[in-house]
Order: sequence, then C-alpha cells, then structure tokens
Amino acid sequence: MRQRLAIRAQVLVSPQCGRGHRFLRSSILPPVGCVPSGFPQTVLLPAPFGAAPKSYARLESEYMTSFSDLGLIEPLLRALTAEGYAVPTPIQSQAIPLLLQGRDMLGIAQTGTGKTAAFALPILQRMAANRVKAAPRCPRTLVLTPTRELAVQIGEGFATYGKHLGFKRTVVYGGVGQGAQVSAMNAGVDILVATPGRLLDLMNQRHINLQHVEFLVLDEADRMLDMGFIRDVKVIVSKIVAARQTLLFSATMPEAVMSLAKGILKDFERIEVTPPATTVERIVQRVMFVARDDKRRLLTELLNDKSVTRALVFTRTKHAANRVAEQLIKNGVSADAIHGNKSQNARQRSLDAFKSGKARVLVATDIAARGIDVDGISHVINYELPADAESYVHRIGRTARAGMSGAAISFCDADEVGDLRAIERLTRQTITVDTGHAFHAAHIATRSERSGPSRPSGRPNGRPNGGYGQKPGNRGGRGGSGGGGRPWENRSRAA
Ligand code: AMP
Repeated sequence: MRQRLAIRAQVLVSPQCGRGHRFLRSSILPPVGCVPSGFPQTVLLPAPFGAAPKSYARLESEYMTSFSDLGLIEPLLRALTAEGYAVPTPIQSQAIPLLLQGRDMLGIAQTGTGKTAAFALPILQRMAANRVKAAPRCPRTLVLTPTRELAVQIGEGFATYGKHLGFKRTVVYGGVGQGAQVSAMNAGVDILVATPGRLLDLMNQRHINLQHVEFLVLDEADRMLDMGFIRDVKVIVSKIVAARQTLLFSATMPEAVMSLAKGILKDFERIEVTPPATTVERIVQRVMFVARDDKRRLLTELLNDKSVTRALVFTRTKHAANRVAEQLIKNGVSADAIHGNKSQNARQRSLDAFKSGKARVLVATDIAARGIDVDGISHVINYELPADAESYVHRIGRTARAGMSGAAISFCDADEVGDLRAIERLTRQTITVDTGHAFHAAHIATRSERSGPSRPSGRPNGRPNGGYGQKPGNRGGRGGSGGGGRPWENRSRAA
C-alpha cells in the first residue's frame, strides 16, 4: 500500500544565495522503513530563481515511496528489483519525476545519497522513449565527472539500471592508453561517461563529437573546480548545441559553481539533500589524542578489533600513505594504499582489492579517495587530520553509506589541535574524546582546551548511529547514555 510522507514546509530565505530567494524546507517524516536507512532525508526545495514557492500539493506528490510511483518503466523497475532497491532515496523521489518531465536540475548532493540512480534512471527512460541507433563517435548522453573511479562507478550504474534496455555505453578517462576507448567510440555509443581532460583530448583528435548530446550531466562540479578542470568543462559544454536537458550536481556550491550552473541550466529545479555539515551527524565520531610517534601503534591496536571489518585510513601525503600501508602489511594486516602517484590501473586494482575484501584496510590521500564508493566501510580512521575541515566531512562520509552504520576515529597529535577545532566549527559538533586507549596523550587533550564530552574508559555511546528508520535521539559524537564495547566498535553491525 502506498504510504504518504508527512511534510512540513516553511518559506526560508536562502543563506547561500543571500538574495532573498524563497526556499521551501521540508522535513520529511517517513514511516519507518520508507526511506533506505542511511540516506539523508532533509531536502531543501528552493523555488527556481525568482519563482514562487511550490505548493504543498506539489510537494506531496513529489514524495512518493516506491519506484513505480515515480513513473518508471517496467525494464527499469525490473533492474531495480534485481538490485534489491526497495524504495527510492529522497533525492531519487525528488529528482526522478522532474527529470522525466525534461526539467534541468541543480542537485546539491554528495556521493552516497543515491544520486547516480536519480539521474541515470530518468535519462535511460527518456532515451528509451525515443530510440535512435547508436552512432559512431556521437553519444546522446554525456556524464562528466572528475575522477576515473567515479566515471567507472557511474558507468556501472548505467549498466546496472539499464541492463534491459540495451544501450551502448562507454567510459573514457586519462592515465591509460586511448586505443580501446577510441574503438568503443567508433563502434557507436549511446551513453558516454568521461573525465574532462581525456574527453577534450579525444574531441580534439575528432574521435568524439558532442553535436548530438541530448542529456548532459555535470557530476561533482565542485571537485572538477578543485581539480582545475573548470576550463576544460566550459570548453566541452560550449561544443554541445543540442542538449535538451542539463543536470549539474555538486556537494558544495561555491560561487564559481553557481555561476557555471546559471550559465548552462535553463529554468532549472534545485534540489538539496542534507548539506555535508549535517550529514556527519549520522556517524559515530571519536577523537583520540596521541603523540605523533605513537600513531602507528595506536592504529595497530585499533585494527586488532575484529569489528573493524573494512577500514579506510586517511593520511595527508602519498608518502605517509605508503608508509602506513607497508607497516600494516608487516604487522600481518591485509592493506593497500591509493594515492595520486599510482597509475590509474594500480589505483583501480587497490580499489578492487578493498571492495572484494582482499584488503581489509585501504590507506588513502584525500584526492585519491574522492568519490570512492565502497559499501560496507565500517570505519574511517583519520591517521592524520586534513588541513581543510571540508575534507573531514568528505572523508567520514565514506562510511555509513547505503543503509549501514559507521564510525569515524580521528588521531590528533600536538600539531593538529587547530585542525580539530576547525572541523568542530564546520560540523558544529564537539567530537567526543576517547581517553580509553593505551596511547592517550593527556597533555595534548589539555592543550586542546575542549569543553565537549570525553569518554574515559573507552566505552561508546548507547547507539552509534541515529540513522534513518531509527528513533531520533542520541546522534553519534554527542555523548549519551552508556553501553559496552570498544570505542571504535561498530555497534549497529554487531547487534
Ligand atoms: P550514489 O550516491 O549514487 O553513489 O549511491 C550510493 C549507494 O547507494 C550505491 O552503492 C547505490 O548502489 C546505493 N543505492 C542507490 N539508490 C538506492 C536505493 N534506492 N536503495 C538502496 N540502495 C541504493
């Protein structure tokens, strides 16, 4: 039976635009089990620039709770059932009906929200409604994304969701020979997923022609900006004349991305799924004050705990990533490292080993980890805190995905106290201090002058994760009622 979601709506002035745009903030209150647990629920629905807010009736109609409610065709529904997707995530229930109508969209959402299906499903459906034989070198759909890893994932998403529709797709990215990519383009392609540098290269060599692109997706636009791709992106977009529908997704909305969006989107809908700073509330977070020289031994101690089933460990530098991985291997822990000095193939191999469980630990730098979509990461461990606080949010967002719970543990040495403060300011949370490990450095804890909760005996909070489908209350990292186990234990999983 179809269940309706209760919606509260209020008109807000956008703090981001600061131009008095009207927003509808809807707090979606799904019946338990209605929204996949672990997916952000809070959705901001700003009216398009200057337009009137949406009506309640329209909002309600947008919050439908099954994929068939969204108007998806049978071959797509069959593929979703095979994948075990029971209900749409908030971004899916919001975006799919609008995209099926052909609307342009600005989506503010991170990887992990289900955004790939949110754009792939309606694009596949619209392409199927108007079948054209795949032409050599001329894709109908182009998805631009910053990294090879993301490109491969998105390509896999199209393959999975579109498996009963028979479209030809390929993925192009740099760091590998172009021969196979050129052959695939020549054989005819409906859907192309690409990183900007290699795409431009192949366009300049006339192996790819974008004149017939009807559906354009710019994914992770802020990362493309960070990675210096924005000029390439603008050149690429300028070559697309026939695009009927354009979608831009970004986790954050810096001015440069906003102006790119305004330049390419027509009369667009804007959808925002829980901003990063609140997403982190779903993850159990701990900080461990430790002298720099003790970090290795502390990591080994943490990894002795069997509840750490799949851990992503972050370092600041490639060199440190290698060192930590080597050390772990020496200690008998299956580990691998992923960073920018490795070839694309080596990076993919490391990622595959991590995904398959061959490597229990993946040690990564921030850039290399961007967009990593590995389900079931039980723990993110910040061996070194990132220099910029936003990276912390992206790092820990690698856990607690696709309905799982997760834990994030940060090592903080004497030089990192300022970084910790910056993170707490950004996330508006005081991270619980774990003093219950053998390497607790009280002098660093004192230096940090924190007034937040601490946990003297290494005992975690009652519930690690106020994930969806659970009762609201104690969200990770905020202290709370007692419970047993290790501080880094993923207790939902154990339960
Ligand atoms: P994405 O944000 O597209 O990277 O998706 C994050 C993860 O959620 C991927 O592993 C997807 O397979 C999974 N996922 C996406 N949509 C759903 C859904 N409706 N139900 C369950 N899992 C989903």
